Amino acid sequence: MVVPRILFWYRRDLRISDNKALIKSYSLSKALTSIYIFDKNYTLDFNAPSRYWFLGDSLKELRSNWEKAGSRLIIDSGEPKLLIPKIAKLIKANYVAWNKSIEPYEIDRDLQVEKELEKSNIKVINLWDHLLIEPCLISTGTNNPYTVYGPFYKNLKKQLFEPSHIDYNVNDLRLLNLEDLPSEVAEDPIIKKSHNHLDNFLKNINFSGNEICPCKPGENNAEKLLNNFISSKKLINYDSQRDFPSIKGTSYLSASLRFGTISIRKAWAKTIQINHLTRNKNSLLSIETWQKELAWREFYQHCLYHFPELEKGPYRKKWNNFPWQNNTEWFIRWSRGDTGIPIIDASMRQLNQSGWMHNRCRMIVASFLVKDLVCNWQMGEKKFMEHLVDGDLAANNGGWQWSASSGMDPKPLRIFNPHTQTQKFDPLCNYIKYWIPELSKVNNSEILTGDISKSERKDYPNPVINHNSQQRLFKSLYAEI
Ligand SMILES: Cc1cc2nc3c(=O)[nH]c(=O)nc-3n(C[C@H](O)[C@H](O)[C@H](O)COP(=O)(O)OP(=O)(O)OC[C@H]3O[C@@H](n4cnc5c(N)ncnc54)[C@H](O)[C@@H]3O)c2cc1C
Repeated sequence: MVVPRILFWYRRDLRISDNKALIKSYSLSKALTSIYIFDKNYTLDFNAPSRYWFLGDSLKELRSNWEKAGSRLIIDSGEPKLLIPKIAKLIKANYVAWNKSIEPYEIDRDLQVEKELEKSNIKVINLWDHLLIEPCLISTGTNNPYTVYGPFYKNLKKQLFEPSHIDYNVNDLRLLNLEDLPSEVAEDPIIKKSHNHLDNFLKNINFSGNEICPCKPGENNAEKLLNNFISSKKLINYDSQRDFPSIKGTSYLSASLRFGTISIRKAWAKTIQINHLTRNKNSLLSIETWQKELAWREFYQHCLYHFPELEKGPYRKKWNNFPWQNNTEWFIRWSRGDTGIPIIDASMRQLNQSGWMHNRCRMIVASFLVKDLVCNWQMGEKKFMEHLVDGDLAANNGGWQWSASSGMDPKPLRIFNPHTQTQKFDPLCNYIKYWIPELSKVNNSEILTGDISKSERKDYPNPVINHNSQQRLFKSLYAEI
């Protein structure tokens, strides 16, 4: 029997373990070659230095894992629609396999690739891997996609509560003894130049925050982050610690889940296993709180899949008529972390320097940009995508629309007071003083109320706005729409 050759196309699943389409491919043939393409039309991955770094280092590890397994990861750049069929033909592949995506551009691109492959009689294997549950397997009683998180979570949890309900490959597939390309194909210039592609990419990485960024690239690091989150008891203390930006109380797995250096099923399966071993009420609550966060990720992915128009604008259409003020100077001060409001500036500086920001802070700065500075939330969405190491269209858009009150959540207007938020979540000002050294000697009580005297401010600017009057302005503008 002739062994089929399979080309496995990596995208948001940069790992060898628990990878749905890869496991399927491996079950059909050990003549497996993989490919990653720097897609020149998909600009989102390449407009943030932090993601550039995370992607490059993850690919480096992946390439080495494939070499250890006896095969290779081909790396190229250009248009997948042209390159995938071209390389599949070159290596005489019978199949091309990949995991499905939810973003509108990727869905369209994949359809085009599939059509091109059909013309050459090359079969396609494509499976869902990036989600806990396939979009068609979760819907409301009336068979519609969920638009509200609460009922979505209930249904998800019902379906995924037992370990046996999670289709997770516990015995990690170690790709040993793969069959590499025949030497005459491996010598082809297109295949040979692939090494240079990644090396050139790595040389051009210009991100200085890699030491302080809490997310770490590669499959090995993702595994370590998950194990550490569990063994250091952060998971069972999550509920009480996750909201304090000065405490290292969250998993830092967002970029790993974004690039697929860890599978979402593995993270979820761990929570179920630990849940079954736990009796303490607070620990159980913490585990469920973390599951709920994984479910928010899932919810936003499903929302974008079903409502691709979210990428372009508000879910609630009346927000199209909102009279945004979009003051450029205010926006620049917000972006730089120069507003004179400590919690906002500390958060934005964390983002600019480390490529990551604590979730509580993301909510505070988003509310501030939209409800205090009256800037269109899409300006903030873009700024986040330019910096976040975990920048992801679905999660970022979902987070911004939630903060702007333009999204699916039925609560109409949610305005965060930056000073009250500081009093609750950074009461000792440790986070603020870490990111704003100019304030290190200022009395905490002044920072907490925002009432910092002129003599204490020195190099630190006066507040860009007054929260109370801007809040009134926002509410009156909102009343008009
Ligand atoms: C305005 C705004 C923009 C955001 N942009 C992004 C983004 O681009 N990419 C991104 O991954 N997350 C985004 N988030 C969600 C959240 O802030 C991050 O996922 C979280 O801070 C990552 O830290 P962690 O991995 O330690 O999370 P943990 O607290 O350990 O949570 C575990 C995982 O659950 C998921 N998750 C947690 N909270 C959320 C949430 N609110 N929405 C969706 N998924 C969630 C993430 O995958 C995260 O890694 C955004 C939130 C807001 C308010």
